[in-house]
Amino acid sequence: MEENVIKHNFSITQEQRSGLKKQKPMLLWFTGLSGSGKSTIADALEKTLFANGYHTYLLDGDNVRKGLNNNLSFSPEDRTENIRRIAEVANLMIDAGLIVIASFVSPYSEDRENVKRIVDYGNFIEIFVNTPIAECERRDTKGLYAKARAGEIQNFTGVNAPYESPKASDIEIDTTKVSVNEAVSLILDEIDKRVKKIE
Ligand code: ADP
Repeated sequence: MEENVIKHNFSITQEQRSGLKKQKPMLLWFTGLSGSGKSTIADALEKTLFANGYHTYLLDGDNVRKGLNNNLSFSPEDRTENIRRIAEVANLMIDAGLIVIASFVSPYSEDRENVKRIVDYGNFIEIFVNTPIAECERRDTKGLYAKARAGEIQNFTGVNAPYESPKASDIEIDTTKVSVNEAVSLILDEIDKRVKKIE
């Protein structure tokens, strides 16, 4: 089948779409344990970018797992497929000229590497929200750690499923030491550096 799929060259390019928006499209990828602070910081970051006139979209577990990926479980194979589809969606959004913010536990290094390959390394900023698990569990924002400890959830990252820490993330944030606003500033600095690099 696939050999008969031939790409059409459409007239309007990514450069034109992003040029109209006056921004460099990219993917800001948050990885870390449940309750580490990914969504909170991602939300604050999007609010700041939006207030400054940038065109953004935020992808997170809830809007993806309830829709596009509602046929996937938390088995290792399905987690890999979950991240692959998200990366392909983000890639389309980058092509549309958007700044995409993605907040996913994404526990496997290989899956995160695959995201980088799909969207291209230069478009990818990895933000490792490295909050100690004891603090994530103390927060237990969704009550999931308690359920996992009670054996009610299988494959829960940090309790009965692994988390492979990034070795060379672009930004690392421990939310027991860095406030939400400070985290947003660190990320905006990194975005600035990237934009300057290509100018
Ligand atoms: P995740 O998306 O990683 O599962 P959430 O953002 O949903 O995590 O939850 C993180 C919780 O930690 C929130 O209740 C948030 O208010 C709290 N929190 C406390 N300090 C911080 C901080 N510095 N940065 C981010 N979240 C923080």
